Amino acid sequence: MKIFLPTNIKEFLEIKSKEPDAIILAGGTDLLAQWHNNKIMPNKIISISMLKNLSFIKEENNFVEIGSLTNHATIESNKIINKYLPILATAASTIGAPAIRNMGTIGGNIANASPAADLAPALLVYDAIVKLTSMNSTRELKLSEFYRGYKQTALGKDELIFSIKIPLPPQGVVTEFFKIGTRRAQSIAKVSLAGLIKKEKKGIDIIRLAAGSVAPTPIRLYELEKFLQGKILTRSVISTACDILQKYIKPITDVRSTEEYRRIALKNILVKFLSGI
Ligand SMILES: Cc1cc2nc3c(=O)[nH]c(=O)nc-3n(C[C@H](O)[C@H](O)[C@H](O)COP(=O)(O)OP(=O)(O)OC[C@H]3O[C@@H](n4cnc5c(N)ncnc54)[C@H](O)[C@@H]3O)c2cc1C
Repeated sequence: MKIFLPTNIKEFLEIKSKEPDAIILAGGTDLLAQWHNNKIMPNKIISISMLKNLSFIKEENNFVEIGSLTNHATIESNKIINKYLPILATAASTIGAPAIRNMGTIGGNIANASPAADLAPALLVYDAIVKLTSMNSTRELKLSEFYRGYKQTALGKDELIFSIKIPLPPQGVVTEFFKIGTRRAQSIAKVSLAGLIKKEKKGIDIIRLAAGSVAPTPIRLYELEKFLQGKILTRSVISTACDILQKYIKPITDVRSTEEYRRIALKNILVKFLSGI
């Protein structure tokens, strides 16, 4: 097996353009587990652990930008994140246990495209943008468009996730993140929900909802948002919202949970979110 250890981004991109099938290794918390379980047998690996320029959090031009190599522990405790994107910090704090949070990165969480990735619902309601870079170009696309299907993304073979850019949320919004797992630590979500809402007297002004572990990828619940937009949250509106939710999600039964449990649990946290504010 060949292992490359570039020390700067230019060097990484040169190697990746010549070795498009080489697998990127960031914190290794997903990749090494897959390798250990014989789910992948990589011949070539490019470690990005030496690319220190990929680990940063900054606020600039009404965006928070997070370098793809930033780990979960840093996201959980960072002042900028806690000020502007509190549920991203909350979501990061629920990942694995301290060892995993110190190694696992935001880039790996997104690139892995697990339906249960904990950062994804929060990033989706914050309208996150993925910045991808290769030898010849840089492009940006919405996180919702980056996901292409179960464990599939729009990442090209010569590309690297450089950063995640998040527009500063509108003033006066309330946000919440819910994760249901088997235990409080080292537990992958059976179901998760992120919500962002701004209510006015005449009805809901802004509503964004995203869920995890109820479809092949983490999803924004656009149809539900459309229904709730402008409404006053009466019992009947919340009840109709729950019916719409059920039509829109496609949970499965797997080792972690059942379809039925996921449907009921997601409905319950949606009710909690909508009636709690
Ligand atoms: C015990 C345990 C508990 C866990 N608990 C949770 C949990 O509670 N919630 C949760 O969401 N996840 C959990 N995970 C999964 C994992 O820790 C996270 O998804 C983590 O964020 C992955 O990041 P990483 O840097 O380790 O990725 P890696 O394992 O290094 O890589 C994962 C994938 O992303 C690609 N990749 C990584 N960085 C980039 C980049 N910059 N550009 C392009 N591609 C890239 C790699 O090629 C690979 O395909 C857990 C894992 C373990 C082992």
